[in-house]
Parts: sequence; C-alpha cells; structure tokens
Amino acid sequence: YDNSKCWTYFEGEWRQGNPALMGPWSDASWLGSAIFDGGRAFEDVTPDLDMHCQRCERSALAFGLTPLKAGAIEELIRDGIGKFAKNTPLYLRPMFWAETNFLDPGPVETRYAISVYESAMPAPKGFSAALSSFRRPSYEYAPTDAKAACHYANSGRAVREAQKRGFDNAVLLDPVGKVSEFTTSNLFYAKDGAVHTPIPNGTLLNGITRQRVIKLLRKAGIEVFERVVSWPEVLAADEVFSTGNYGKVIPVTRLETRDLQPGPLFKKARELYWEFAHGG
Ligand code: PMP
Repeated sequence: YDNSKCWTYFEGEWRQGNPALMGPWSDASWLGSAIFDGGRAFEDVTPDLDMHCQRCERSALAFGLTPLKAGAIEELIRDGIGKFAKNTPLYLRPMFWAETNFLDPGPVETRYAISVYESAMPAPKGFSAALSSFRRPSYEYAPTDAKAACHYANSGRAVREAQKRGFDNAVLLDPVGKVSEFTTSNLFYAKDGAVHTPIPNGTLLNGITRQRVIKLLRKAGIEVFERVVSWPEVLAADEVFSTGNYGKVIPVTRLETRDLQPGPLFKKARELYWEFAHGG
C-alpha cells in the first residue's frame, strides 16, 4: 500500500497510511473474529453507502460485537472521503473485531477501524472463471449472515486453485452442488432475454450490488429470476456477469472451456447501475 493514498481512523484519530491495529494476542489476529464491509466512492458518488454501513453493523452484531450504529459508521467514512481530492476513486472499508474474550466468558471487547484508500475503478474488461472444487458453507457451518474475514480463507484457496489452472476467478457451488457465487462477487447469467441469479439460500452473500442490479433490471422491464441454479445452466448461458461493490458489474469472458462475450444484458445492467449511481 502507498501510505500517501490511505487514511485510517483508529482509536479516536485519523492516521495516514496503514497503521498497526492489533497484536499477536488480539483475538482477531488468530481467531478470524473480524467483520468488515466494502463500499466505493467514485465520480463523486457513494452508491448505497447507507446499506453498506447497515450491513456492517449487522455483521458485527452477528459476531456478538458491540458496533457503532450504521449512521455513525457512515459519518466517519464521509470524514475519510473528505481527506481526498474531489472525484478520487476510493475503496471504503469499515471493520470491527473482537479484541478479547471471543472464546472466553466475559464481555467481548470490540475494536474498530475505518479505512479509506485510493483505488481506481477496474476496467470492465471481464474475467475468466473456473468451477471450484471448494464450496460455500451453509449457515450451520459458518456465520454466513455476516461479511466476515473468516469466509475469505475459502475464497483465497478457490482463487489460488483457479489461478493454477489459468483462470482469474472461480465459481463456488453450495453444499448440495447448486451454483452459489464467485469468490468475492455474485453471479448472474442471461438466457433468451431473461436474467437469472442464484436465490439467497444462506450460502452466498446477498450482495448490495446484487440487490440493486435486480431492482434496476426489473424496473427497466427485464425479467430477473432468483432461483436454484445448476452449473450446466450457467455453462449454457448467453452471457454471464458478476456484481460486487469493487467493480460493480463485470462480464465473464471464459467459463471453463466456454468463451463468452460481454452481451446486451450485461451492458444494460452496467449502464443502469451507473445511471442509478449518478442519481438517475
Ligand atoms: N459475495 C462475496 C463473497 C463478496 O465478498 C462480495 C463483496 N462484498 C459480494 C458477494 C458482493 O457483495 P456487494 O455487492 O455487497 O459488494
């Protein structure tokens, strides 16, 4: 990280750069007892920042932490945005973690940091995706109602497996073998003019961008089906794309042996998102 491009609020003050937040005995550093969220500021807008802050508060509560209220998280993030020149593309990351007592009796000590850093919006050039041999857990196996650091151990090994096979990213199935999501974004496909996406079943993160894109497409008169999706259907799709706060709407250009082109429904979804982001 370039320290001049990052501001972090920790223990009552804004510090430039990537300050140390925890030590070897902080629970989060060895138990994964941390939650976070990720939003974006770009072209001077912050789409759905309120929703990201609300999810951050909910994720912290799901871990038994004592978070700030969503409104207070948003206020701090806006202070952080103010440290950069207008229009700088930024990634916004609030995080809360258990410092002590995560596994022991006694009140969990909650700590938090709000970090804002400069990060260009990725070009929508698309990515390739392999079918992962790893799966998303269900709620019984992991706290899937939280955007938690611990889930990303699985995402990381899925990315590495895919990269070894020459792909950028991976599709993960759920515990019963239906399609769940990509490693860090939600999956959509288009077939015969309609859009399909896996229904939230406690294994995928019901992304804020996902929910927004579904609403926008429906409002534009496009049918969107939230359903149980099987892998062969995705392989036979006309188009496949992802949604997530980082790149918003990005096309898939290769799925295992199948080459794909960014198509009209991907383009529509991306266009509608940009219009929405700018208040349209
Ligand atoms: N799934 C996972 C596992 C993610 O990490 C993300 C990124 N937050 C998403 C989906 C997309 O969610 P959102 O649109 O809220 O960023």
